[in-house]
Amino acid sequence: MSQERVEVIVVGAGPAGVAAALTLARAGVEVVVLERGAYPGAKNVMGGILYRQPTEELVPGFWREAPLERAIVEQRYLLLTEEDAIGLTYRTPAFGEPPYNAFSVLRAEWDRWFAQQAEAAGALIATEVTVEDVLWEDGRIVGVRAGEQGELAADVVVIADGANSLLAQKAGLARDWRPEEQALVAKELWRLPAEEIERRFNVPSGQGVAIEAFGAATGGLLGYGFLYTNRDTLSIGTGALLSELIEHEVNVSDLLDRFKRHPAIAPLLDGAELVEYSAHLIPEGGWRALPTLFTDGALVVGDAAGFVNPLSREGSNFAMISGKLAAETILEARALGDFSAHALSRYWEKLEKSFVLQDLETIRDVMPFVRARPYLLRDYPAAFAHSLRHYLTVDSTPKAQKYRAIVETLLAELGPSRLLRDAAALVFRLAR
Ligand SMILES: Cc1cc2nc3c(=O)[nH]c(=O)nc-3n(C[C@H](O)[C@H](O)[C@H](O)COP(=O)(O)OP(=O)(O)OC[C@H]3O[C@@H](n4cnc5c(N)ncnc54)[C@H](O)[C@@H]3O)c2cc1C
Repeated sequence: MSQERVEVIVVGAGPAGVAAALTLARAGVEVVVLERGAYPGAKNVMGGILYRQPTEELVPGFWREAPLERAIVEQRYLLLTEEDAIGLTYRTPAFGEPPYNAFSVLRAEWDRWFAQQAEAAGALIATEVTVEDVLWEDGRIVGVRAGEQGELAADVVVIADGANSLLAQKAGLARDWRPEEQALVAKELWRLPAEEIERRFNVPSGQGVAIEAFGAATGGLLGYGFLYTNRDTLSIGTGALLSELIEHEVNVSDLLDRFKRHPAIAPLLDGAELVEYSAHLIPEGGWRALPTLFTDGALVVGDAAGFVNPLSREGSNFAMISGKLAAETILEARALGDFSAHALSRYWEKLEKSFVLQDLETIRDVMPFVRARPYLLRDYPAAFAHSLRHYLTVDSTPKAQKYRAIVETLLAELGPSRLLRDAAALVFRLAR
């Protein structure tokens, strides 16, 4: 690839990079995606729930032919203590019918299929190419260098290399991240026959369940555990902010082992066979940690830009839509023959009009709020579980006495002033 030139280089064949390449290729732009893995998806980790509507903005009707595992019809939220579980479940048959809401996917299969759509539109995807640096000329980015494989020049480089984007740092767009800005998550894939998954999770063939668990799922640290049903496997994982893991000297693999042993989780995995283990970063710095998103000759998309909503476990949709908006910006810049930062700043305007920046701004205070209250995911689950156990235990105690005892338990375990302070802080933030 030495000294060649194309119109656009995309670094990374994840959802963000492929969405950009697909949009550009469809418009007739000469685009090359450089991917370090043996194939798109080979090294990628996700829970993973893929959302139908944003994906259809890239490939309408994709669900008719893409490699999807199950349509998610049930969402469970669990608040765990060491032994107990409090749950909230939403289930609707509507999510199990076309056009669906969300699907479980395996990234190795999904990414490969998505990349094939970009190739079919005319993008070139070069695998086993690790980009090491960007090329500069007169203060603007003019291409990339990939070690011994040489240099490639372009009008624009789309930086889509995922969480911990070294390229965004080398391009001078991002600073080195801090441990409180990335979560480290361990994930395993367990094989279980499809019929057994359907029996255990009470779903018909082709439909599935997503579980998110808080509290003891992360040893009380700021993060969450998850369990998703695939066709004949289960995806299970847990993790927390790196700063919390470091401070409490917790190993994320040990955290996952503890989560799997929880009495509410262990029966779901019973008899399953371990297929795969992986661990990955999720950028959770949000609004306050955004890098510079464009410069002369380059744009940053997806995880590389920190576009993730950890509250609703959305990342793949942020990646795809930011990739699409970056591509649309490049098309406008191409029409003007101007790839300067000024022309590429339209990217920011497009992001601001979309859920990408609007959602990040909406949740900008949530992580600082929870980080400032390290007891939230420990003391609250325990106090609620104790109260519920007390309430549900039928032992001939008159109910009025039970109600009093529950209030006393909550006040004793949470502290009246702390309860009031937390409630006031929450109301203040919601009202802003
Ligand atoms: C455990 C876990 C669970 C998750 N669950 C969900 C979920 O359920 N739903 C959801 O929507 N999101 C989820 N996410 C987030 C989601 O996975 C990401 O937001 C999404 O993958 C970001 O896409 P991306 O294209 O920006 O980055 P990635 O998918 O990380 O892709 C980056 C690509 O760049 C390549 N690359 C990196 N460096 C180089 C280089 N120097 N040269 C060439 N190629 C390079 C990589 O190999 C990779 O293919 C989860 C993340 C994790 C870690």
